[in-house]
Amino acid sequence: MTKKHSGGLKLQFLGATETVTGSKFLLYNASAKYMIDCGLFQGLKELRLRNWAPMPVPVVDINSVILTHAHIDHSGYFPVFVKQGFRGRAYASAPTVELCKILLPDSGFLQEEDAAFATKKGYSKHIPALPLYTYNDAMAALPFLSAVADNKAFDLGHGISMKLIPAGHILGARFVHITSKIPYQRTVLFSGDMGRYDAVISKGPTRIKEVDYIVMESTYGNKLHPEENIFDRFARIINNTASRNGKILIPSFAVGRTQEIIYIIKKLQEAKRIPMDIPVFLNTPMGINATAIYTKYAQAENFFRDGIDEDSFHLPNLRLVKTQDESKMLNNLDHPAIILSASGMMSGGRILHHLKAYGPDHNSTLVLVGFQAAGTRGRAILDGAKSIKIHGLPVPLNCQIESISSISAHGDYNDMMKWLSGFTKPPKKIFLVHGEPEQTNALAERIREQLKWEVVIPRYLDEFDLD
Ligand SMILES: [Zn+2]
Repeated sequence: MTKKHSGGLKLQFLGATETVTGSKFLLYNASAKYMIDCGLFQGLKELRLRNWAPMPVPVVDINSVILTHAHIDHSGYFPVFVKQGFRGRAYASAPTVELCKILLPDSGFLQEEDAAFATKKGYSKHIPALPLYTYNDAMAALPFLSAVADNKAFDLGHGISMKLIPAGHILGARFVHITSKIPYQRTVLFSGDMGRYDAVISKGPTRIKEVDYIVMESTYGNKLHPEENIFDRFARIINNTASRNGKILIPSFAVGRTQEIIYIIKKLQEAKRIPMDIPVFLNTPMGINATAIYTKYAQAENFFRDGIDEDSFHLPNLRLVKTQDESKMLNNLDHPAIILSASGMMSGGRILHHLKAYGPDHNSTLVLVGFQAAGTRGRAILDGAKSIKIHGLPVPLNCQIESISSISAHGDYNDMMKWLSGFTKPPKKIFLVHGEPEQTNALAERIREQLKWEVVIPRYLDEFDLD
């Protein structure tokens, strides 16, 4: 590992190595330092502890931050930067800036809740336990975010410029294309999270022809999404459950997944494949705000497939549930209904109250539509739990359980290989990040075998010269 600075471009991996969270890549030359993504480590405790480790460079020495997209594992550490004295700018696409305005304060709020819980249970060495950052810290970080236009060189100073290029995945997600002119021209592409070619509402990732270095995600490096007609599947679930007078509960992530499901329901209603009189309740304040942002950008963004417009996320029978009292009323419905609520992995939030009400009901259906991390209620249910604990009490699960893994915001290995095959010449190196080792290793093998490229799987804090 080189420590002395030769004047050329260097890259250090500060997160998303051998795991999917904590994306943070330090790119620097002799005169400036840039951070691509500023994500929070999530999940296992040993990873979350890294959120408290000091940065290898003081954040005051970092000139700018560039965010690929708004997901917390790519943006959620930024309030810590500002808290520690960062006074540069953070650049991202316009929708990413807007989504960060709802996601970062929510993340601060959750940190405070976790700290309060740790204090109550005596988990923490600190009394009271400290949040990594608070709601107010996150609010204080928002003025540092600036929107940058797509596909245009943007000068970051010190011989470095960048370009944001649509990546699919979620609204606002971009590839970050860096050009460094000192001491010679080098280009680096950071994939952030990459979308898929056959997503429900979004276009595929933009084709890139040539670059010197690639830093690419590998979440589904060893997986293929099942091929199924998602509209047929939802129509069947909704009609069967409604015929039993049951409720359809959908724990859903606020950004992206919620809007895809609203769109699927809309298309089924338009085709008269499901009854119009089944009300759809959107019971997540963050989901309501995110849906407004999706609607706002429906026509301005080339993220969306043709045919998506500002009406695509609007249902005549969509009821926005804002207050807790309204939320409680949903637990005593005597007619079929679709309830979309957070959190997506059932680790908290209003969905738990609905699960308490309808989990024991044979006629209702719980539909899992997203990734369920180890240790969450969602994973336990996916693994066949017949009863789960909610607010300290066991709740029997007699309802029908459906798991839909064919909707995902990430490309599978076919999508990734298709995108990589679009390059007209091999990069000097491709670094694979943002994946569990089994996924990353399998993708590395595929790239070596099929494309004959040089593949590197960096470890935490590894550093490379980009000569
Ligand atoms: Zn993401």
